[in-house]
Amino acid sequence: MVSSRVNKINESATVSMSNKAAELKAQGKTIYNFGIGEPDFTTPKEIIDYAYKEALEGKTHYTPSAGIMELREKIAEKMKKKNNIDTEAKNVLVTPTKFSLNLALYSIIDEGDEVLLPSPYYVSYPDIVKINSGKNVIAETDNNYEFDLDLMRKYVSPKTKVFMLNNPVNPTGKVYSEKSLRELSDFIIENNLYLISDEIYEDLIYKGKMFSPGSIKEMEERTITISGFSKSYAMTGWRIGYMVAPEEIIKASNKIQQQTLTCTPSISQYAALKALDDEKSVIEMKNKFSKRRDLAVSMLKEIDGLSLYEPEGAFYVFPEYDADMESDDLAMDLLNKENVIVTPGDPFGAEKHFRISYAASEETIKAGISGIADYFNKL
Ligand code: PMP
Repeated sequence: MVSSRVNKINESATVSMSNKAAELKAQGKTIYNFGIGEPDFTTPKEIIDYAYKEALEGKTHYTPSAGIMELREKIAEKMKKKNNIDTEAKNVLVTPTKFSLNLALYSIIDEGDEVLLPSPYYVSYPDIVKINSGKNVIAETDNNYEFDLDLMRKYVSPKTKVFMLNNPVNPTGKVYSEKSLRELSDFIIENNLYLISDEIYEDLIYKGKMFSPGSIKEMEERTITISGFSKSYAMTGWRIGYMVAPEEIIKASNKIQQQTLTCTPSISQYAALKALDDEKSVIEMKNKFSKRRDLAVSMLKEIDGLSLYEPEGAFYVFPEYDADMESDDLAMDLLNKENVIVTPGDPFGAEKHFRISYAASEETIKAGISGIADYFNKL
């Protein structure tokens, strides 16, 4: 019998859909899979070659728990240059991105502390908050996914400790403007909160500009900026990312890392070192995603019964549908009738929506979205 703690945690909705896709493929069906939240590209060859060379040279051992110094320094440099965050190696912890979300929460919240979570949210956030003994307080955003600060003020209590931000947003593709983020930061300062700023999609912006709230001087001591290599460099399988935070939080998180993961895989750290020199691949992949975004959006716009927020970043579209059906049932029906996998909106905190990941080939986008159009035409 597993613990009651674990019984409160849900299986990842995206992972379940991927498992289902594998099952159907094994049965010989052609499946149009828009469920997967990862680039379909292989990691750029130079990065793989470099990691391989380093492995052959013996870089196959434990590393310092916070990460190899060269990489921490290089990440600090990147934060200064790209994110305008004035930081140093001692403020950087190398760790897989999803794990860093756990470490950050574990380091700053006590049992029962509240975490303000704007919805729609990344599917894993509520469970990560629960794993770390926090309480989710969901704050709905407006029709354009802007923060409703008046509503959020009502939700703040003496227990509120953290605001969880994801920008660009999975699942909506929203990219917040500097103005919105400055207003949000004022709210965070006003209420003496921490900000966890998950910027894992920072390189995938098609409209608008990246702004990191950690670059605001008054936010420095209360911001944990999180990013990683999975999405920018097609490196999901290498399990590597990082957090940048005040030294006290890095030390606390590093202690937990020592007693859990020990360190991030050594070979992945060398791969990451090389990746940070490879801006060319990032731009090439982004341009490909941008074309796919345009294709997916133009096709989805033509479908009656769907309304669409045009995504500005990441690789997702999150249409709202007009049908009397729950999103779990709709996703299953789409799979059964049109062999299309989408992720239901409910686990992202938004019923009557579904998420399409357009990190898929143009052929898949064309055939799969045609299937979605047929489905809604027949409804
Ligand atoms: N944050 C967000 C918003 C994500 O979409 C993801 C991956 N889907 C992660 C964190 C986790 O990234 P990683 O797989 O690199 O741990």
